[in-house]
Amino acid sequence: MKNELGGKGANLAEMCLLKLPVPAGLTITTECCTAYYQNNCQLPAGLMDEVHAGMKKMEELMGMKYGDPDNPMLVSCRSGARKSMPGMMDTVLNIGLCSKTIPGLINKTGDNKRFVYDSYRRLIMMYADVVMEKAEGIEPADGKGIRKQLDDMLDAYKEKQGYKSDTQLKWEELKQLAEDFKVRIKEVLGTEFPDDAEAQLEGGIKAVFKSWNGKKAVSYRRIEGIPDDWGTAVNVQTMVFGNMGETSATGVAFSRDPATGDNKFYGEWLINAQGEDVVAGIRTPNPLNNDTKNELNKKLVSMEDQMPEVYQELLGYRNQLEDHYKDMQDLEFTIQEGKLYMLQCRIGKRTGRAAVKMALDMYHDNWINEKEAVLRVPADKIIELILPVLDTNVEKQHKALAKGLPAGPGGSVGRIALSCEKAMEYKSKKIACILVREETNPEDVDGMRASNGILTARGGMTSHAALVARGWGKSCIVGCSDIHIDFEKNEVKIGDKTFKEGDIISLNGTAGAVYDVEMPLIIPDIENDPLYQEFMGYVDKYRKMGVRTNADNPKDAANAVRFGAEGIGLFRIEHMFYDEGGETPLGIMREMILSDNKEERVKVLERLEPFMKDFAKRTMKVMNGKPLTFRLMDPPLHEFVPSADETAKIKALAEERNMTEEELLKRIKDLHEVNPMMGLRGVRLGIVYPEITEMQFRALFEVTAELMKEGNDPHLEIMVPLTINVKELLHQKEIADRIQKEVEDKFGVKINYLYGTMIEIPRATLVADKIAKVAQFFSFGTNDLTQMTFGFSRDDVNKIVKEYTKEGIIPADPFNTLDQEGVGQLVKLGVERGRSERANLKCGVCGEHGGDPESVKFFYKTGLNYVSCSPFRVPVARLAAAQAAIEEERAK
Ligand code: ADP
Ligand code: MG
Ligand code: MG
Repeated sequence: MKNELGGKGANLAEMCLLKLPVPAGLTITTECCTAYYQNNCQLPAGLMDEVHAGMKKMEELMGMKYGDPDNPMLVSCRSGARKSMPGMMDTVLNIGLCSKTIPGLINKTGDNKRFVYDSYRRLIMMYADVVMEKAEGIEPADGKGIRKQLDDMLDAYKEKQGYKSDTQLKWEELKQLAEDFKVRIKEVLGTEFPDDAEAQLEGGIKAVFKSWNGKKAVSYRRIEGIPDDWGTAVNVQTMVFGNMGETSATGVAFSRDPATGDNKFYGEWLINAQGEDVVAGIRTPNPLNNDTKNELNKKLVSMEDQMPEVYQELLGYRNQLEDHYKDMQDLEFTIQEGKLYMLQCRIGKRTGRAAVKMALDMYHDNWINEKEAVLRVPADKIIELILPVLDTNVEKQHKALAKGLPAGPGGSVGRIALSCEKAMEYKSKKIACILVREETNPEDVDGMRASNGILTARGGMTSHAALVARGWGKSCIVGCSDIHIDFEKNEVKIGDKTFKEGDIISLNGTAGAVYDVEMPLIIPDIENDPLYQEFMGYVDKYRKMGVRTNADNPKDAANAVRFGAEGIGLFRIEHMFYDEGGETPLGIMREMILSDNKEERVKVLERLEPFMKDFAKRTMKVMNGKPLTFRLMDPPLHEFVPSADETAKIKALAEERNMTEEELLKRIKDLHEVNPMMGLRGVRLGIVYPEITEMQFRALFEVTAELMKEGNDPHLEIMVPLTINVKELLHQKEIADRIQKEVEDKFGVKINYLYGTMIEIPRATLVADKIAKVAQFFSFGTNDLTQMTFGFSRDDVNKIVKEYTKEGIIPADPFNTLDQEGVGQLVKLGVERGRSERANLKCGVCGEHGGDPESVKFFYKTGLNYVSCSPFRVPVARLAAAQAAIEEERAK
């Protein structure tokens, strides 16, 4: 049903079936939207006739008539996609107000002119923005949009009169503002605001369709991976009014606390207000009840106190809806002169911790079973429970500069970015940043995504910033009224201190505190986190595929083990010297690369070996009893030597190596490759310089022998990278066998190890059966495999991928999410062919994709034995693997 009616439409229909008070309405299906786009942006034939027929029924149910001078009905046009995209598409309220219907509505509401002109000016503002500007494809410069201009006019007028709140505006003033708005609209957009109910209705419907392709909706879809061809439904619904006076109100609520998951009804409301007012962050909203009170709103009256009966009714619906959907609900409601109407319900967005808490609570209450609880937490979100928070010991020593609402938990530290553009610039330079804004609006999604933390001056816990940040697991503080941004000077005052863009601040999103110190981030104590432990227990109960980690040093390895890694799937030997104390061996490795004859190279390797043994041994100790896959050196040579134009570095290196700069330059030129990614690397290096392979096997075998003698239990695996055929493997194996014998004799122990290969060149997947004659295991290097399959250079392709995804030529960046259609098929083929030769061939994946939930699910279906990913992704991969197993069982 959601596919056709969209989430909003389907849930509105569901609430009607449950007999909740929902204003009558009709839903135009998502199919019509698709048809509209296929049809050159023309409404499908006959659509408006059907809409009119539907409106007739609505009119009968509500006892009013659309466009009628005496008893006018107004409607809203609301968007609603299959998957909720909060605030990303457009909605227009109060449609049907025009000079013909205004007097009737005034008359009907007991001469409530203030209400009518307030609704009218709102209609004009929304309609101009959504229908006349955005839907027409007009893209004004930042801050020059018609909505902003009208908002500024309103603000200027309020300021002139000394009004603090919209509710102080008198009807005459609202009426005049509406007239002024219309003049401005004509000036700016060149068209007249339509004074006709029918035209408004059609305009509203089209605008909602068009908002599907609005800039913010498109960029949100890219981030969330929502297909472009889904389309949005349109809900045309009878208006009810929260702005009719002191007994009217509007609000937003969550059936449980979306930040912590606590089973407390949670919400915000505003008296004498309409729709967006609560989420837009214009006024600080009132708390719904005592449970919702916080530092900022504790003095404001709650609905529980102000309208106890209506509150009880709402609480009843909250319980009814939770019971019906067996999940946390996000609710929108309006009270018109004391009567409650439900306007929306949907499964609410929540933080990772809240998702776990709710899943476990509902399991304990017998609402859902263990498997369902495991499925309830999006795999990506579990990372929030292990992500860094500000170091409390350091935090204690500092006073918060300012406090706001804790909208998105976790800590973040970074440079202040006052615009989304700046945040994206920082991101592209890999600089951590914190987006600081008056308020965020849905246009800001890209910038929000690019920042490590978000801080806003306005807005409540249900504001867009809060919603989106929570959805993405970003630390976020909203409603921090002690922030004042000076855009002219590019400065922001936080508390009583002034910062320039680029200064560093820290956020504690769990407590809502802002600091002017660069605080250390620490990893939470998961061992003593009962929620995490219990939940991951169920995860591992249903998980069938193994999860390993990519780690090249003892610290990362130990961390990954804490996160549940069952082994190391990729230890890059050339990376091990990036660790502490690696400078000397890294220098020796560079010398090795620069050596221009075997004799010299062997000497250098002899110096490198003790370091290699020491570094490898420390990680092997951490992994005692667990498999550890070393990958033979695969250094893209250009990454390890300075380029010819880095004169200072060349000078220093030449001095260090006791050679002339000319000699060094010549060597660098010899090493230069036009395509280093396809050059002398991987196993090719070991074939051209067998002595390099020899040293590595010797070091690893000796360490293994030593560890065994010291009473440890090493599980050594060695893999050869970048193979294209079995002969390469045989060539290297000959060396390995010879060295193994030597080491066994020297130490008097028998060494057991697995000899395998990485599969990362398409050719290798095609001849996998032959390769499997020698290889005891395969590890699919999906980064290189993607690079080689697409012919996309990993280092340069960003721009192209950006354009390709924008144009919809490829659905997503194939380096983030496995291209199942192409690269995935090669993996599948490799596994099948490999196992046709060696039935028990162990297969794993060690590319970045090993930590991407969608890709993990694919790997499970492909029959891989394990995935290997970076330490922090390990819990994500565990959860995704468990979900894959449960989903497979359900599909049967
Ligand atoms: P979004 O998808 O951005 O939440 P909605 O379609 O839910 O947009 O509309 C935004 C707000 O407008 C709602 O929260 C609701 O308060 C108000 N609204 C929408 N339709 C009506 C209606 N028929 N009567 C009263 N208020 C409405
Ligand atoms: Mg809504
Ligand atoms: Mg590789």
